[in-house]
Amino acid sequence: MKPETILMIILIISVITYVFDQVLDYINLKAQRKDIPKEVEAFYNKEKYQKSLDYQRDQTRFSFLTAAFSFLLSLGMLVFGGFGWVDGVLRPFIQHEIALALVFFGVIMTASDIITIPFQWYGTFVIEARYGFNKTTIRTFITDKLKGYVLGSLVGGALLSLLMYLMKVIGPDFWIWFGLVAAGFILFINMFYTSIILPLFNKLTPLADGELKTAIEVFSLKANFPLDNIFVMDGSKRSAKANAFFSGIGKKKKIVLYDTLINNHTTEELVAVLAHEVGHFKKKHIIWSYLISIVQVFFVLFVLSKMVFNENLSIALGGSQQAIHLNLIAFGILFSPISGITGLLTSMLSRKNEFEADAYAKETFDGNALANALKKLSVDNLSNLYPHPIYVFFHYSHPPLLQRLAALKQQAS
Ligand SMILES: [Zn+2]
Repeated sequence: MKPETILMIILIISVITYVFDQVLDYINLKAQRKDIPKEVEAFYNKEKYQKSLDYQRDQTRFSFLTAAFSFLLSLGMLVFGGFGWVDGVLRPFIQHEIALALVFFGVIMTASDIITIPFQWYGTFVIEARYGFNKTTIRTFITDKLKGYVLGSLVGGALLSLLMYLMKVIGPDFWIWFGLVAAGFILFINMFYTSIILPLFNKLTPLADGELKTAIEVFSLKANFPLDNIFVMDGSKRSAKANAFFSGIGKKKKIVLYDTLINNHTTEELVAVLAHEVGHFKKKHIIWSYLISIVQVFFVLFVLSKMVFNENLSIALGGSQQAIHLNLIAFGILFSPISGITGLLTSMLSRKNEFEADAYAKETFDGNALANALKKLSVDNLSNLYPHPIYVFFHYSHPPLLQRLAALKQQAS
């Protein structure tokens, strides 16, 4: 395929993706409703409900702006051969192919992050602050960025170097070997995320003795889930929003409760949330999502192996000769419609898993307590109560609140 044709396809994919996302955002915004659903009436007054509508409107409008900015920026880079130009500037100084790729991605990613810092800043310190969510200090914002840079360049750099090395010594069959490495890497991250990566950004403390711990002890004995794996995280360091999640595989499994969650919920509600998280483990959601992500990685690498040695991809991006790093960028865009579809399928599976974990919490603990916790979470986070079904279909990893409440009511207890 000629470079001009490849560039045309890349541009068409970029434009369609952009327009599609904006249309989804727009219809979701138009789906807002003024009436408070019966289910959460007790938690909302008119004023607070209006605040949640305002929050969603502000967020969507801001995302229109950031999406337009990023779209124009990447469109400009593509049309004017910006990626090829950066490659051409760096090439005379760096002979080594892998070193060149590392510096290339370092420059592109750092530049794109720095350019978008004003937007990240506005999102955190203006919009989130306006609705009382932001707790991030300027100091935390800066240290987060620096830690992110260091972590990203170490991990990303190591993986990219290995990928390119395998491409060089093995050729088109590299995908099998790098797939095995990636599978091991994902497993490692899954197992050690809460013990290595999370502590770089947050403080995790084992749940302290008290009423909550006693209540959890009773539940975990019944559910046969070890108690020493429950941690409290200082989520309040960054945001007033609350959350809980499950992480890890096998002996490394952990449940993390945000301190903001603990502060705003009763013991019953917290045990119900915990029961939901244990449900993800008991229903084998964790192990399945790991296996699915490995299949996905092999698939991506296989398709990559068919395209990454094609010189015309580099030339389409404005390069003067074949460069793996230019081809990787071109591949990223060309593959995005397919990854959009696999993403859609994983979201569908994830929503199904949420219903199952809710059902588990109802069976083993208390459906009403979980319903109350979900309502409070939704209200405290000013979540959208009437997201458009099409928007949910494409973007939601969790079912909307009203659907979860209806399912909890229906399931036989
Ligand atoms: Zn869940």
